[in-house]
Amino acid sequence: MLEEKIHDKKPLYSKTAARAESSRCLFCHDAPCITHCPTEINIPQFIRQIANDDIKGAAVTILASNKLGYSCARVCPTEVLCVGACVYNHSDNAPIQIGRLQRFAVEVAEERFGFLALLPNKRPPSGKKVALIGSGPVSWSAAAELALLGHGVTIFEKKAVPGGLNSLGIAPYKLQKKDAIKEIEWLSELGIELRLNNEISANSVGSLVKEYDALFLGVGLGEDKLLNIDDLSGPGVYGATALIEQIKNDAHFDLSAVKIAHVIGGGNTAIDIAHELKLLGVEHVTMLYHRAEKDMSGYAHEIDAARKSGVVFREHEQLKELVRDQNENMHITVFDSSEQKSYKTQTDLVALAIGQQKIIDLAEALGVNLDSMGRVIIDEQTGRTSNLRVWSGGDCCSGGKEVVNAVQEGKIAALSIHEYLVSQKNDAEVASA
Ligand code: SF4
Repeated sequence: MLEEKIHDKKPLYSKTAARAESSRCLFCHDAPCITHCPTEINIPQFIRQIANDDIKGAAVTILASNKLGYSCARVCPTEVLCVGACVYNHSDNAPIQIGRLQRFAVEVAEERFGFLALLPNKRPPSGKKVALIGSGPVSWSAAAELALLGHGVTIFEKKAVPGGLNSLGIAPYKLQKKDAIKEIEWLSELGIELRLNNEISANSVGSLVKEYDALFLGVGLGEDKLLNIDDLSGPGVYGATALIEQIKNDAHFDLSAVKIAHVIGGGNTAIDIAHELKLLGVEHVTMLYHRAEKDMSGYAHEIDAARKSGVVFREHEQLKELVRDQNENMHITVFDSSEQKSYKTQTDLVALAIGQQKIIDLAEALGVNLDSMGRVIIDEQTGRTSNLRVWSGGDCCSGGKEVVNAVQEGKIAALSIHEYLVSQKNDAEVASA
């Protein structure tokens, strides 16, 4: 797999390095790092546990708030979350490397004690069943909480590979597919049933409504959006998420003939694929963004990292035309709005990172309300949709946020589903008394 050529950006700490880093923590009262973690992990507590060589306790602390603490430790933009909030940022000292400590705790504790030993005991079976559609982080978070509460849980995934964004969409220098799958295998030990190659369509979802007591919609986002330009559907042109998926999942995918690549967009997906192409050996990788670089929605630290790896950023530039010559070489015309002129250049690969479609059919078939942008509307306190037996969360609601936000939304929905299932059970017991 191509992604395995890319090295881990933040490898696992040694025990000595973890002890040294944890011992720098000030264990702040009202720690700002906690309030900047969407899942509110008790960060000073788990760091103190590492410093005291209580690795199991540290992992228990992390997983109590975030069942995907392992992948979040690796994929979270900690620079703008917990690490960005660390009090050390106001001094000459580097902030605490919270993500790396979190990875150390969960990875080492799982290896030594097994994943289930890091979680509370499962409650007795409730007799209730929940179906979750989509197998991305939001569904695994909800499924893990529901399984621990004693409910029967089944995840339906249309692809052959589980994990959604975590296994197929995250840049490999943060998390490789095999590691995302490893976490899913840990979570599956809770008795979560996973049905792969099992697409739930607008036509088939009715049978789930009849068979299950509650439904969770975690379908994420759809296909990459395309530009309205002729010839864009030919070889060498990819949607950015489809390209990332091929790099992570297609053992025969080969980039050796690609010397020049252009990435269209200015968000984190655009930066991820540009950085990834560079790390995979593409000589010239250029990002074209139609506005000023300061307007890019990608994180500044990711832009810096991509630039350091050799990605060239060109602001105020738009792809206008793509033509293929008789040898199938691609030539693009780019319009520079700051200079008000166009230029032509050759390219071997174009990646479009201008957003993704919404998946609306399923929500509509369930009678779930959508907003004007096609996002599923939920009550933020409960994750419940306008169909009172359907909950949702993650990118199909937010339009695209971080894995850690999805984990929190899955957790919130699971607690609300649990309350609903308990109330249903109580009602049934009263009716039969
Ligand atoms: Fe430790 Fe920094 Fe959090 Fe304070 S803000 S508890 S120093 S990680």
